[in-house]
Amino acid sequence: MAQPKALLTLKLLIDTKGKRVIFAETDKDCVDFLFHILSLPVATVISLLKKQQGIMGSLANLYESIENLNETYYIQPNHTKATLLKPTPPPNPGYSAPLMLLNHAPAPTHQKMFYKCRYNCSASYVSEDPKAVCPGCSSTMSRNMSYVAPQQEGSGEGGYVKGVVTYMVFDDLVVTPLSVTSSLTLLNRFNVEESALEEKVVNLGMDQAIKLLKASLQSKTVLTDVFLEDAVGCKPKVEETYAGSLD
Ligand SMILES: [Zn+2]
Repeated sequence: MAQPKALLTLKLLIDTKGKRVIFAETDKDCVDFLFHILSLPVATVISLLKKQQGIMGSLANLYESIENLNETYYIQPNHTKATLLKPTPPPNPGYSAPLMLLNHAPAPTHQKMFYKCRYNCSASYVSEDPKAVCPGCSSTMSRNMSYVAPQQEGSGEGGYVKGVVTYMVFDDLVVTPLSVTSSLTLLNRFNVEESALEEKVVNLGMDQAIKLLKASLQSKTVLTDVFLEDAVGCKPKVEETYAGSLD
């Protein structure tokens, strides 16, 4: 398995006249990161965006309502506020660093326990709660079972998509494999003058990841919002390694 990169890299094709990103050329790691957003629990998304101002809608109020409830008085004894507010991170194929950017926990420490009833009961029930009562023999299901995790594929490169391909990510987060024809058609469709085109390599770290997550919920110009909004206060840390016209 390849060593995970600390930062994701995107090569932006920018229309300098229209001040917008046409598309970004990027690799497997970045696409894995984007696709991983879909597997995040809503509570994780809210807690990440709460630090940013102006979270859309009312979900943050739901979240805060749970935070403000007294656990001892109002929450069922078999639950905690944390089960709702900090749900277990979704399973992460390959545990590469970019995918973990948006997860609460840096590594899965949560070991799931299961319980069964007496040895001589033929019913095949298991429970997550050692106080549960077996429907077959009515005894308490207090016998601890060991959970066996499925074998990780050693040959795979981890993540979701295959690594040999270069991918295109559009400003509205449409993701496709890179194709020369589609990028040319695109320049025509967007009516971009070739002289106005500029390439720029940018990094995506935790700050940009959260901005991207926020923009993805409320904007159709996500890459432009995250990487070109220098003028609007919060300046993204952009590392400009190359800038020039295409030809
Ligand atoms: Zn039983």
